[in-house]
Amino acid sequence: MFFVECNIAFCGYSNFYFIEIGCLNLIEFKSVSKVYEDTHTKALSDLNIRIEDGEFVFVVGASGAGKSTFLKLMMREEVPTSGSVNINGYNLNGLKKRDIPYFRRTLGIVFQDFRLIPSMNVYDNIAYAMRVIGSREVEIRKRVPYLLGLVGLNSKARSFPNQLSGGEQQRVALARALANNASMIIADEPTGNIDPRMSYDIVNLLNHINSDGTTVIMVTHDYHLVKTFNHRVITIKNGKVASDYPDASHIDVEPYRFDTPEDEVGTYYSDDTTVDFDYLMKTYGVETIESDNPFVDIPTEPKNYPLTSDSYSVFGEEGSE
Ligand code: ADP
Repeated sequence: MFFVECNIAFCGYSNFYFIEIGCLNLIEFKSVSKVYEDTHTKALSDLNIRIEDGEFVFVVGASGAGKSTFLKLMMREEVPTSGSVNINGYNLNGLKKRDIPYFRRTLGIVFQDFRLIPSMNVYDNIAYAMRVIGSREVEIRKRVPYLLGLVGLNSKARSFPNQLSGGEQQRVALARALANNASMIIADEPTGNIDPRMSYDIVNLLNHINSDGTTVIMVTHDYHLVKTFNHRVITIKNGKVASDYPDASHIDVEPYRFDTPEDEVGTYYSDDTTVDFDYLMKTYGVETIESDNPFVDIPTEPKNYPLTSDSYSVFGEEGSE
């Protein structure tokens, strides 16, 4: 069994006492150092960071500063050489291998290169994240349309990744990251491959998701975005926290100013990237694929999975029967 730390608070009210139990959804790095043994590189050095539940934090820093290592430790892809990492109530140092997938399900991960499965349409890319952890179809049929609405892509449910713009693909990836009710989104340069207007829309969405209570940690190089959304900014330099400000007032660049929503125009990507399937599965919280899992076989050719009649009515399309 994995161990989840919980805080217990006693609240007095009149003559009654209520017991409130809440799990600690925070991120705590205590004196963390990470040395990659093969190259003897000290990527992180005595790093101390605490992020509270519900915060939105930008992580910035030059290439090689240690940002990805910080994220990898958060996802329990790497373990610290010394120091401790606590995330969402899990002590990652002592986490048993068999409990890692359950821990990862508390995270939603968004990548710079989207990592959508090219042979699946938008609906199924999102549904797949739920299917692989065994969600029931009845739940999937409710949740996927809700998520599509959240990211403004109801009309694209049947489109394939190569029929979408970069910004649209990233919105699908964001919906997928939210599919399993993650309490925390980790976004590794999610706007690195899209233009400023679409980048703004993506972070705007993250901002809305955050205002509903989801913690967001976003690595970025785009200081205009950091300035625009004005959240806490942690700068990592040579594996240490070089600065940690509650907002972006110290950053001397212009914020983006996009007053009106704009229909996406421009580049439509022909997505010929190969997906690192095993890695993607890990980010869903699936360590190994059960041989009897019906969704293991990823079709190599695009295939429209039949949407149910429920789904059709949600999408305002004609029924299948
Ligand atoms: P950033 O994300 O800020 O660019 P990284 O965390 O990727 O920084 O890298 C920090 C340092 O650790 C760099 O010197 C990099 O070369 C090194 N490094 C990163 N990953 C590995 C690895 N798997 N093996 C060896 N060295 C690594």
